[in-house]
Amino acid sequence: MARPPAKGSRQRRVGRSEGERHHPLRQFVGSGNDGFVCLVCGTNVLPLLNGSFRSHCPECLWSRHVDEAPGDRASECQGLMEPTRLEGSAASGWTLVHRCAKCGVLRRNRAAVNDPRQPDRWERILDLSVESSR
Ligand SMILES: [Zn+2]
Ligand SMILES: [Zn+2]
Repeated sequence: MARPPAKGSRQRRVGRSEGERHHPLRQFVGSGNDGFVCLVCGTNVLPLLNGSFRSHCPECLWSRHVDEAPGDRASECQGLMEPTRLEGSAASGWTLVHRCAKCGVLRRNRAAVNDPRQPDRWERILDLSVESSR
């Protein structure tokens, strides 16, 4: 007669623990899409309306090294990030390349030229595109 397993018999789950890396820094705090005041030009930067992360100031295009992964606000660097280059095209969308003035890390951030409320300043993006093509 087949009987169900006795109470004490636990299924042993082995493995996985090695392959699964913990990412304590990845825990999201809040929405990650808060507005901020730009430390470079003082602009009161509003959150993007399309739900993605506001990664840089729309006026001066400077960013801040606050994320390890986009939007997680997990970096301890907090350095200011200078817009150094422009990549992409009008068709595929523009990407700004920021370099952290403090630790030198490079980050790519999508330009927010289509935000209806506070889009990136096109003149500044054009400046960057000229510098990029030199
Ligand atoms: Zn600014
Ligand atoms: Zn940094």
